[in-house]
Amino acid sequence: MKKTTTRLADGRELIYYDASDDVVRAAPDGRPLDPVSTAAEIRHDRLLGESVAIASHRQARTYHPPADECPLCPSRDGRHTEIPAADYDVAVFENRFPSLAGDHGRCEVVCFTSDHDASFADLTAEQAALVLEAWTDRTAELSQLPGVQQVFCFENRGAEIGVTLGHPHGQIYAYPFTTPRTERMLASLAAHRRATGRNLFDDVLADELADGRRIVLEGEHWAAFVPYAARWPYEVHLYPKQRVPDLLALDGAARTEFPQLYLEVLRRFDRLFGPAAAPTPYISAWHQAPVHAADRSQFALHLELFTIRRTSGKLKFLAGSESGMNVFINDVPPEAAADRLREVASE
Ligand SMILES: [Zn+2]
Repeated sequence: MKKTTTRLADGRELIYYDASDDVVRAAPDGRPLDPVSTAAEIRHDRLLGESVAIASHRQARTYHPPADECPLCPSRDGRHTEIPAADYDVAVFENRFPSLAGDHGRCEVVCFTSDHDASFADLTAEQAALVLEAWTDRTAELSQLPGVQQVFCFENRGAEIGVTLGHPHGQIYAYPFTTPRTERMLASLAAHRRATGRNLFDDVLADELADGRRIVLEGEHWAAFVPYAARWPYEVHLYPKQRVPDLLALDGAARTEFPQLYLEVLRRFDRLFGPAAAPTPYISAWHQAPVHAADRSQFALHLELFTIRRTSGKLKFLAGSESGMNVFINDVPPEAAADRLREVASE
């Protein structure tokens, strides 16, 4: 793998991750770009004890451009995009319309491939492995930035999720605080440790493997299951069997096996509702230990994948109970979801 770091015309960082070591990335960004104006502000909700990012400048961001104006495609035929090169493997750059910026964290865009019409599930295992390298490297670098408390790599896929660019890409948020969901997990972890002396993540994974009803896919180094109390109609959690706090700590064997399992789960997601309803919209979220948490070694890196679709023609909306009270009502029993996810396995 070769990494090349450069700058776009407005000073934002652009990083290429290439599978081949002899690629030269020297094409300059020829666009006359104004400096990025970011007015991201973090406000604290005193009642809930949670932070909210206020980012008014995002209203001007690129919204569903036609394919020939895609800003994530390579720059070709005199048309300048966010990526000056004529082709690339994986490219990461600072978001021009960040939700978090300056002293309040950082937002990056990860382009998984230069192929506009592909999706993550279309990548080869080698390409997916390169994305994993990029996620790992970005986690290492962003964790070093002053003020960053948590690095979150994720993908929103599908217009139904609110994705405004069709090109296969994900994002990385470097938060200046520990997110509410992670705080809750850390609190549960500490309580379980006090009560039992054991690690809650280890117990959850061991219980799922012993029960088996919700296991979707199991490899030598990873297991994928529908969680016991799944919130979403189809939700899968992927855990390395050897607990590690973050992507950096994954060993070579786990790193090698991950693409095969993850690609298979994504392909099953696309088959869930039949060809007419494909591709399935989803959110894929990496959970990593907060950068400076005292008990970070107890945290378990894992990936949570879910779709907001519940049938071929219906989406699951976050309505009164979910949005108003944070209580999810799930119409699909997790065991039935796991059955379905095993049914649609690749031949
Ligand atoms: Zn594109």
